[in-house]
Amino acid sequence: MVSKILVSACLMGHAVRYDGRAKPLVHPAIGRWMQEGRLVTICPEMSAGMPVPRPPAEIADAAGGEDVLAGKARVMELTGGDVTDEFLQAADDAVRLAVANGCRYALLIDGSPSCGSGFIYDGSFSGNRRAGSGVTAAALRQAGVEVFSDRDIDRLVEQIGRTD
Ligand code: SF4
Repeated sequence: MVSKILVSACLMGHAVRYDGRAKPLVHPAIGRWMQEGRLVTICPEMSAGMPVPRPPAEIADAAGGEDVLAGKARVMELTGGDVTDEFLQAADDAVRLAVANGCRYALLIDGSPSCGSGFIYDGSFSGNRRAGSGVTAAALRQAGVEVFSDRDIDRLVEQIGRTD
């Protein structure tokens, strides 16, 4: 059986981002993986019931997704709302879907407080990046799923080429 890939819905062209837009990833592997039945699409935040559009959110105090999972950090909206519980639900939904479908890999858009896997923002809403993961990406890694950012799609192509 082919290895399956959990993929961020916004990368697949779904207009589910906080600003009501998509961020489609254009790469020849996407169409091929779709035909092969490898892709399992989710927007974790929408799965947790968050609306589109929604206020931008960041993990507070320069913490990371692992800190949120450990109960040591919060996820806050620019408008002051605490959406930690929604982000934890989002991560849980993504892990459940990945496990239910036997996803060995995840391909997630970078920078998001949910899906980021290489960098996130530092909670100051001033555009400052820090290395780290969003809540969903951290939860998937803890569940044994190998997470790749959209910028790393060529590495995932190589990995899949080596394994199946
Ligand atoms: S939660 Fe993930 S899939 Fe949903 S809009 Fe944000 S980055 Fe895209």
